[in-house]
Amino acid sequence: MNTQLLGGVAGAVDGLAWGVAFVALAVALVAGVLFARARRRVAALPEADGARSERRLQQAVADLASDGVFSGRLEDGRLLIDRVTPGFVSAFGLTASAINTRGGWGALLHARDRAAMEAQLLAVADGGRHATELRYDLRGTTVWLECRMQRLPADPGGEAVIVGAVRDVTAQRETERKLERREAQYRFALEGTRLGVWEWDYEAQEAIDADLAGRLFGLPSAEDGHQKALERIVPEDRERVLQAFMAGAEGRAPYDVEYRVVWPDGSEHWLRSTGHRSVDAEGTPRFLGVTREITEEKAAAGRIHELNEQLQEKVRELETVFDLAPIGLGFGTDPKCDTIIANEALARMLDGIPHDNVSLTRPGAPTEIRAFRGGREFPRGELPMQRAAATGRPVVDEEMELHFPDGRVLALLSNAAPLFNDDGEVRGCVGAFIDITEQRRLEREVQRRLDELKQADRRKDEFLATLAHELRNPLAPIRNASMLLGLQDGSQQGIDWVRRVIDRQTDHLARLIDDLLDVSRITRDKLTLRLERVELRRVIDNAVESMRSQIDAQRHRLAVSVPPGLWLQGDQVRLTQIFSNLLNNAVKYTSAGGSIDVTAAAEGAWVNVTVRDNGVGIPPDQLRQVFEMFYQVDRSIERAHAGLGIGLTLVERLVRMHGGEVWVRSEGIGRGSAFTVRLPLADQPARPEGPAPSAGRAVRGLRILVADDSVDSALTLTALLSAAGHDVQAVHDGFAALQRAAEFRPHVLLLDIGMPGLNGYDTCRRIRAEPWGRNAVIIAITGWGADEDRRRSREAGFDAHLVKPVDYAELQKYFSPDNIAL
Ligand code: ADP
Repeated sequence: MNTQLLGGVAGAVDGLAWGVAFVALAVALVAGVLFARARRRVAALPEADGARSERRLQQAVADLASDGVFSGRLEDGRLLIDRVTPGFVSAFGLTASAINTRGGWGALLHARDRAAMEAQLLAVADGGRHATELRYDLRGTTVWLECRMQRLPADPGGEAVIVGAVRDVTAQRETERKLERREAQYRFALEGTRLGVWEWDYEAQEAIDADLAGRLFGLPSAEDGHQKALERIVPEDRERVLQAFMAGAEGRAPYDVEYRVVWPDGSEHWLRSTGHRSVDAEGTPRFLGVTREITEEKAAAGRIHELNEQLQEKVRELETVFDLAPIGLGFGTDPKCDTIIANEALARMLDGIPHDNVSLTRPGAPTEIRAFRGGREFPRGELPMQRAAATGRPVVDEEMELHFPDGRVLALLSNAAPLFNDDGEVRGCVGAFIDITEQRRLEREVQRRLDELKQADRRKDEFLATLAHELRNPLAPIRNASMLLGLQDGSQQGIDWVRRVIDRQTDHLARLIDDLLDVSRITRDKLTLRLERVELRRVIDNAVESMRSQIDAQRHRLAVSVPPGLWLQGDQVRLTQIFSNLLNNAVKYTSAGGSIDVTAAAEGAWVNVTVRDNGVGIPPDQLRQVFEMFYQVDRSIERAHAGLGIGLTLVERLVRMHGGEVWVRSEGIGRGSAFTVRLPLADQPARPEGPAPSAGRAVRGLRILVADDSVDSALTLTALLSAAGHDVQAVHDGFAALQRAAEFRPHVLLLDIGMPGLNGYDTCRRIRAEPWGRNAVIIAITGWGADEDRRRSREAGFDAHLVKPVDYAELQKYFSPDNIAL
């Protein structure tokens, strides 16, 4: 068609070459539509104007052509433009003459394209056709022009004509370059992300444009094709992938599948392919897809899965520890610790539910639970976890107590540490609590036992000292009496008197020793009763008889009111011992001339026997203790009637062994005491019983005053000293000693330390304060012989401290003229 058109046009143009070239280029460069329009316009012209019409046709084509068309000639290797079309003018903005006068359009050519232009001209000069794209600096910018030239054969004798067409392809070039850039970016992106795209060609049943996707299958080039890619999929996955692909391609289901492929080098890769089926504007289905390598994601996911598993494992382990820990653990999950999740131990402590909120500051927490620290109640906001959270500082080894409404007290050792968020703000708290209630109870118990032991130990020491004192006391009169015997003139009366002293003191010693042995037997459960039917009155009579001499010596008034016919089942000796002990105490703890009553009254199957005195009485807070072993209300040395502190213990144990009980009442100090023994009565009668014994004094030489509350001791000593030719006087308490000394002005004073009223130390001090007493020889004669006692007597002003029984020879040393101020 082109040739036909070219021939037709060539004949009609004046200047054949111009016409042919012009039309040829027009056809080549202008669309067929454009030419048809021109033809229609020409066909409408009258037949007679044929040649003119052809010319006009040429002109019209040239005008319509958007390309610039020119004709010219080559001169000395230069192209000289003769004619240009309007399109050319608009392309260059220059006419042919302007181009030529300016030295040709080559001057507008971009310097870098000069060589290309020259090559084109050379090619054209040789008679060829040539097309090239060249850059021109036009309109102040670089413009790409497609330039096609052809040399038309010269007419005979004529000059060769060059025709050419230029077309501005800047926009096209720009688009191409943009596309190239896009393509590069696209490839770069796909390669960088290990991504491949593809499209399924339904007709060819082949993936197209899939070179980047192919690479993910380890295929070197796209030509390897779809089939090869399929073969790379591991057999286990292949069928699944195929099925999914078919479903996707047929639009039955979205295509999204993960699978493994093995590359030719043997490496395994994970791929994920997704596809989308759509229908284009012309109704043709298209199936576009993306394949992506996800090996790393898979590995990462596997690793994450593994880590997650390990984490879960650890969490399970910690949860088990949390639940099984024997100490209370709690997690406060808010900055105020209003929510504390407890483990089982903590929940148990707080009467709560494990894994539930046990916070005592939670809304609705039981208000009756109270918290104490160091014995002081404190508000709940200061509980260890709440405080750690509020201050941001840990609480370490703090002890507190929780008091529950049911009376339960829980002692806790608490530790708490705040938990912080990434911004360093407190987000909660963790707390650990150890129940130390039992520990504290045991500590208190141990402390109590320790105190008891200390007390027992102290009592033992006191007891030993008391025992020594009590044993010495009777020894003094015995020794004095025996010396008296040596001095006696042999009168029966004197001997009897001395014998009675010795008897009484020996009895006293024997009683002490018996009591000790009894206590020892009772505490070891070795004491047995010889039970028999015995009348109460006989028991009381025996007891009174055994105490008669002491009662008389103290001039006590004794009233016994025990009805006959009250029978007991018991050990007569032990029952007598009970009442003689009580009478003994009544005598001891009542000042001389007091009154003692013994009454008995039956009360159903029981009889109550009360021994009442109007003596020193017992402080109300010590009424129970007097029955304890070694317990003595008054432990001071001033006590008038010392004992071992075991009399009432014996009474209590013996009464208990007889199935009874004993108690004491006293209105207080100085208001007497009443001991009541309650014993079970026996139901059968039996028969009655009987009696008991008493003490004396003497004078010459030195005036000697003896002061001792032990009458026997005082009198025997007095007798001894009188027999030695001294003028001796005896008194039995400190005040009497002071008074008598003031009148008697003794050279020597022999003072007992433990005396009623004023003790020996104070008596000595007061005498030393008197002018007449300053030079007297004052000697302590006492049962107390410890270093401490000796020190105290020295401080009080005594010249000597002699322990009973006094060695008479030793005593006489102090009566030498050197010592005595006569
Ligand atoms: P002691 O050997 O000290 O008399 P007891 O066991 O007989 O020992 O008595 C214990 C203590 O009870 C006495 O030391 C005394 O303080 C007090 N006591 C006992 N009987 C009486 C009483 N009748 N009046 C006042 N106090 C008494």
